[in-house]
Amino acid sequence: MPDSSISQLRLSGIVEESIVDGPGLRFVLFTQGCPHHCKGCHNPQTHSFEGGFLMTAEAVLASVEENPLLAGATFSGGEPFEQAPALCAVAEGIRTMGKNVVTFTGYTYEALLCRPDPWTRYLLELTDLLIDGPYVEALRDPELRFRGSSNQRELTRADRKRLQAAMRRYA
Ligand code: SF4
Repeated sequence: MPDSSISQLRLSGIVEESIVDGPGLRFVLFTQGCPHHCKGCHNPQTHSFEGGFLMTAEAVLASVEENPLLAGATFSGGEPFEQAPALCAVAEGIRTMGKNVVTFTGYTYEALLCRPDPWTRYLLELTDLLIDGPYVEALRDPELRFRGSSNQRELTRADRKRLQAAMRRYA
């Protein structure tokens, strides 16, 4: 695990109880700042890296701890992987509570694996369910569970292991 004390998050919003951002009842963090600029994005107010508000990982965890009904936390955006160090601190605490972590990203899993920073790798390790890929307006499907467009994938730990093995085979 990388060593850092960065725990400050820049958020665009919080939903304390959601049933549409992953399995079960979830505490959702919407991060502020996104480099993807997907056409038709439903959260354009999250794109600027300057806006939103600041909150520490410790404050997030204290709020989660108050609600024993939560199955876990979801990191959405914005782009969560642009704030991987602080989200790792949140994810560690969530998992220590016996809850699970869902992370949405506009990057593909394969692209994240190519990023050199150790925090990206660690946030992937701490994530139980990864929902990856940019929003593609032409592939929008309102029937999809959790996802906005059909190019996006729900990747469990097992799915990611299989993808990594396939990438190694064809490298
Ligand atoms: S990754 Fe998400 S927040 Fe970022 S532009 Fe695409 S849809 Fe919007």
